[in-house]
Amino acid sequence: MWGIELDFIEEKLKKYLINRRLNYSFEMKIVFNSILMKKSTFSVDDLYKIIDSGDVKISKATIYRHIGIFENAGIIKSVPNNLGKKVYECIDSSTHTGYLLCTSCGKTIDISDHRISAAASIFSERHRFEIESVNIIIKGLCNRCQKE
Ligand SMILES: [Zn+2]
Repeated sequence: MWGIELDFIEEKLKKYLINRRLNYSFEMKIVFNSILMKKSTFSVDDLYKIIDSGDVKISKATIYRHIGIFENAGIIKSVPNNLGKKVYECIDSSTHTGYLLCTSCGKTIDISDHRISAAASIFSERHRFEIESVNIIIKGLCNRCQKE
């Protein structure tokens, strides 16, 4: 899912920070990198676990603050869920994402792959539509919730 897009996302963040005279601090860089390590949807708790397993300690409050900046910068967005906490994903113009969302437990399963891109290009060609981003949500019950 990631790759060349990484530079694009980081550049977008840097531009936002420069425009607002904000520093791309060492801590912010660590939070940003932890998002990239998740490679899918993430919560603040997820990032905290990743960061806490490293050498540098960053408080949850600081992570929340940086997440707010990233959201305002338009490089991440919150994903619908009913986990009772915010879950995010990276935004990129060339990202084609899809996920299954369990309406009972809130679990999300990443189904992003080339077939979503392929389907998107079929429809965009058919309707002469210029794609900015693709985000497919399929709602239903996950395997575990079906059994309950
Ligand atoms: Zn479920």
